[in-house]
Amino acid sequence: MMQRGPERHTGHRVSYETVISSLDLSIENAIQYNQYYLCGSAMVDNGMLLLAAVPLADCHVGVIADPKHTSRLIRALNDAHPIPTLQHLKRVRRRAGPPVRFEVLLAPAEDFASGADCLSALRAAGVDASGLDAETVVASVPAAPPRTRAQFAAASEHWACNFHEDAALEKLIAGTAFDDADLDKHRRWMRRAGGAAQRGRGVVAGAVVVDPARDALVAEAADCRGVHPLRHAAMNAVDLVAWSQAGGAWPVQDGDVYDEDLPDRPPPVGTVRNRQDAVDDEKPVGPYLCTGYDVYLTREPCTMCAMALVHSRVRRVFYSVAAPHGVLGSAAKVHTVRALNHHYQVFRGPACSASASPAS
Ligand SMILES: [Zn+2]
Repeated sequence: MMQRGPERHTGHRVSYETVISSLDLSIENAIQYNQYYLCGSAMVDNGMLLLAAVPLADCHVGVIADPKHTSRLIRALNDAHPIPTLQHLKRVRRRAGPPVRFEVLLAPAEDFASGADCLSALRAAGVDASGLDAETVVASVPAAPPRTRAQFAAASEHWACNFHEDAALEKLIAGTAFDDADLDKHRRWMRRAGGAAQRGRGVVAGAVVVDPARDALVAEAADCRGVHPLRHAAMNAVDLVAWSQAGGAWPVQDGDVYDEDLPDRPPPVGTVRNRQDAVDDEKPVGPYLCTGYDVYLTREPCTMCAMALVHSRVRRVFYSVAAPHGVLGSAAKVHTVRALNHHYQVFRGPACSASASPAS
């Protein structure tokens, strides 16, 4: 059963028109704002590079004159001169003929001034170079792992690569990450957040927490920093989720809603031992307040709110209007900070009325 705060008649109602004009979940936004796709490669600083070709780097390459030495040469080179920065590349590639020939990565070009220096150093390191041509060449090879199928295809033109397809990323690129039913849901929930924003005290902003597994509302909150400076919409929403789980720290504001009839939360994911307690006193940990939940915000959150969403382990954040001090794309990208121990996905959209964007 939904719990609702007492009706309020303060005359403070702010005119707010919720207009869902379009769902701004284009591939550029999805990649730019989705930390998941920004992490773990040389492309971390700019997600847009996912749509560009993989950068190249020069390498000294040996030509294998006698293919029966290939396996031995690979082992010897991996032992004597591993290339940790190019682990995504296969050490050997087969060049189509005629004549068919095999080439092997010797070392990054920056490691040795010339191919002759490179071969000398490898011999000095104990590599038996028999089977290798005396001549080496310099080849441009992919300097970073390909992240997309298109990058993989382009990179493979330069050198044989390892590639692990990210199905979710490919869907984003193909524009199929959200189907029409998904988009309808996102619009509906953002519209609800827009409705909550009308009740804002001080700032026109609203937040809605949804359990996507049930497509059900968990909490709906308006901003009331006019009542208390910390009570931004997202903070109120997290507190209402706590109310839904028999917690909650703040009085429920007029019109705010939380679901007190939640189905059982998933079982605890583990236990933690309190060092001050007896050895057998193990306490359950997790799931956290918002584990698995999606949050819809009419405006981009500030640092405090964004971190509250990190700490409560939100799954996805959708926000409608960018804010100058927002930290999910504007002033910072908190969701891309790899040092944090939780990362939610962030999407900008669906669009809301511009009236939801007061000075931050
Ligand atoms: Zn905030």
